[in-house]
Amino acid sequence: MDEFMQHAIKLAANNVKEGGQPFGAVLVQDGEIIAEGVNQLHNRYDVSGHAEMVAIRQAQKLLQTNDLSSVTMYASGEPCPMCYSAMAYAGIQKTYYAQSSDEAVDAGLGKSKQVADDLQKAPAERTHPMKQMTLTEDTYNPMQMYKKRHQ
Ligand SMILES: [Zn+2]
Repeated sequence: MDEFMQHAIKLAANNVKEGGQPFGAVLVQDGEIIAEGVNQLHNRYDVSGHAEMVAIRQAQKLLQTNDLSSVTMYASGEPCPMCYSAMAYAGIQKTYYAQSSDEAVDAGLGKSKQVADDLQKAPAERTHPMKQMTLTEDTYNPMQMYKKRHQ
């Protein structure tokens, strides 16, 4: 295991010692750690406070861009669908993780796997179904407004 993953694991272990969940994440650019995070759900009211999200926010603030295609993610635990999505939006090309979502389930942390499984289902079959309310004539059409503005 390389030094960056060892650091992510250490962050996760320290977070457990401080009453949090066992997740740490490190972002590396050109061989140097530029951002890191731990799961913050034990001390913040923010469901997006996953280690990877915290590290991504920190890196984007530091680099002043949403584009993290030049960084590598080291996550102590397999990224959940939210973090995977954030990594995709940020353009992160390389991600390594140590402990699997099955190990998280074994530790009593099954939400990520449940969400991942849920996303495999048809939208109407999901635990948190979403229903489309289509636009009516008397409303704005933000998508078309955007399209016109960017043509
Ligand atoms: Zn996550």
